Amino acid sequence: MKPMVLIVEDEAPLVTLLRYNLEKEGFAVASAADGEEAMLQIAENKPDAVLLDWMLPLVSGLEVCRQIRRSPATRALPIILLTARGEETDRVRGLDSGADDYIVKPFSPSELVARLRAVIRRAQPSAVEDTLSYADVAMDLAAHRVSRGGRAVHLGPTEFRLLHHFLLNPGRVFSREHLLDRVWGPHAEVEMRTVDVHIRRLRKALNIDGCRDLVRTVRSVGYALDHVG
Ligand code: CA
Repeated sequence: MKPMVLIVEDEAPLVTLLRYNLEKEGFAVASAADGEEAMLQIAENKPDAVLLDWMLPLVSGLEVCRQIRRSPATRALPIILLTARGEETDRVRGLDSGADDYIVKPFSPSELVARLRAVIRRAQPSAVEDTLSYADVAMDLAAHRVSRGGRAVHLGPTEFRLLHHFLLNPGRVFSREHLLDRVWGPHAEVEMRTVDVHIRRLRKALNIDGCRDLVRTVRSVGYALDHVG
């Protein structure tokens, strides 16, 4: 089961960006544009964590945070407050309202993901997978390490992200377009054959002598992480 994150934010472009990054990292995402909608969604389908913007229409994020903390059903729900404010007093007010953590805009998606994993892990240690694996390949997300059959595999950052995407969806065939979008980002100016170059590197790194090839090329379609070669 993917951990579910509820984004409470009224700025649609930011919601889209957050959703994109969180889904890419293996989270399921729901969103609400104001506090009232957030409370309804939480009551209907309790998320594993809430990303709560401070600046919301009608009721502020701080008040939403207090409401979540008041209900016994949601008292322990991990909350990260998003804000444009960076003052120390704001930080204190944010944490006083019951937020577990506090992140100032603009923030890097990877920092946000790391903090989300941390608050979810604290609340329910089994909910966040720190290790992804397939066949004899294991990826330790916390240590940023990959191994095959217990032996270390050294990957460049792009190959790491490629493998991460494959490990989230083993057996599925992805087109080059999809991989470009998901691994390099929707606005990356990269040629299609760049994907082939990095797939080649990934394959070479994973194929420690004697191991079978786990990267399957599907002619005129794309690539998959697969047993069948
Ligand atoms: Ca806002």
